[in-house]
This record gives sequence, C-alpha cells and structure tokens, in this order.
Amino acid sequence: MKETKQKNMDRLETMNLQVNNNLEHLKKKKLFLFDIDGTIALSEDVIEGTFQLLSHIREIGGRAVYITNNSSKSTKDYVEKFKRMGIEAKAEDFVTAGSYTLSYLVEHHKQDLIFAMGTNSYIEELKKNGLNITEEYEEGVDVVLTAFDTELNYGKVEAACRLLMEKGKERIWLATNGDLRCPVDFGMIPDCGSICNMISAATDRNPQYLGKPSPGLVEYSMEMTGFTKEETLVIGDRIYTDIACGENAGVETCLVFTGEAKAEDVQGASNRIDFCFETVKELYEELTGKAGN
Ligand SMILES: [Mg+2]
Repeated sequence: MKETKQKNMDRLETMNLQVNNNLEHLKKKKLFLFDIDGTIALSEDVIEGTFQLLSHIREIGGRAVYITNNSSKSTKDYVEKFKRMGIEAKAEDFVTAGSYTLSYLVEHHKQDLIFAMGTNSYIEELKKNGLNITEEYEEGVDVVLTAFDTELNYGKVEAACRLLMEKGKERIWLATNGDLRCPVDFGMIPDCGSICNMISAATDRNPQYLGKPSPGLVEYSMEMTGFTKEETLVIGDRIYTDIACGENAGVETCLVFTGEAKAEDVQGASNRIDFCFETVKELYEELTGKAGN
C-alpha cells in the first residue's frame, strides 16, 4: 500500500498538479457519490477495490449513491445490473439524469403540459408520477423535454422544432444530459446532447441540461440523504462532467484514472480537482490504511 501511495504522490509531485491533497478531509466523508462507468465498473466488470470501498462506507455508517447521466436506463435496470455485478443496491441508491429530471419536473412543472421525447419506459415513468405528458405537437405545451431517446423518430424531432420556434411562445426547453455520445459494444451511438444539437442547429435554441455537470444530481443526493457538503465526495472519471458537477455543487471531488481522464489531463484542467487516485482501490487504501485488492 505504501508503494502505491508513494507512486501516486510522486506522480502528483512530478506533474506539479494543483490538487488539494488535504487527505484529512477524506476521513470526514460519509456520502460517496460515485459515477458508474469508468469509475467502479467497465461494462459489467467491477473495478478493483470497489467491493472493499463499499463495505468500508457501510462500516463507517456512510452511504454510497450512484449518480449517472445515462437516462435511457431506469433505476430498476441499474439495480438488476448491479445485482449481476455482485453489488447490493436499492433503487434509491441511484440518481440518474432521468430520475433527477423527473423529480425536477414534479417540483417545478407539475401543472404544465410537457412535450417529452424519450423511450416508452421513460414516458411511462413520467406519466406514473402524475406529470402531464404529450408526445405530439399541441398548442398548449409549456415545456419541451429531451431525454436520451433510443426510440427517436423524425416526427418527434419535427414536433420539437415546431414547438421551439413558434412565434410568440417562449417555451422552456429542458434536457436530461448533455453527453454527445454513449459507449456501446461496437463503439458509440448519439446520446441526448447530439439529439439536442440536431434540434439546436435547426432552431437556434439551446436546452437547459439537468444532468452532470449541472449541480442538481449532487444537490438532490445530499438532500435525499441528509449529509452536508463537507461530508460529501464526488468520485468520477470525467473532469468536465463528474468533477465539474461536484465543483458546481460546492463539494470536494476525486478523480480516478480507470475511465476517460488520463493523468496528463489534470494539469490543464479548468475544474478544481481535490483528490486523484489511480483507481478506487487507492482511495480505499488512503481511507483505511489497509491494503486493497
Ligand atoms: Mg464515467
């Protein structure tokens, strides 16, 4: 463990990174907000150290919550995915851009008519929560919502354009997440951000994105669990989404190098990164002083 830690310290020192490595702060953390892909899992393979870190969090009376921008999967899908990976988790342990958007709409647009572009299962979930949803152009629409719609068709795109361009109507445009592409087994497919870009190109309008890097997912998780900013840590592999969303919410962040970001990206990063570890295993080692595996 000492060697790994030394390796990290050397790396940080060599690169002269501007990280706040006040490691004492780490010991105060109780709420761990994990990104999933590239942070604790790659597809369905669990990244080393994850199981130990999760048991440590349980032992100290903390809480692990998984925050993800993926709005094509429901929290139920995630519970099942985690079960297959051997991680016990309940629906309330997941805050997805889709589930957060739902709670945002219930809070702010309960009385409004919402034109929603999303998968059938997502539309059903919105309706089940009492929201007033249409999937077609209607004059009375107040809000346009774009989610990661893997069942998208041109009719929906055209209706969205009509609603956003209609003269005399300044309709609100919300979107679940700004990710441009989503990794799949053969490569990439267009994610919600690309769907929005297509509509933006035609309408000269831009949506308000609710997922990461907006602070909503982090703020919502803290509110849901009752932990303070000081007790919270955001852990992720992308600087411009995971780290930025923690920074925007005013909580400390931890970058791991098991996904998108590489050590050399840290130096020029415009976001504040508080801690860096190779993997969550080194984070576990730092927190406990025990060797991870
Ligand atoms: Mg990730």
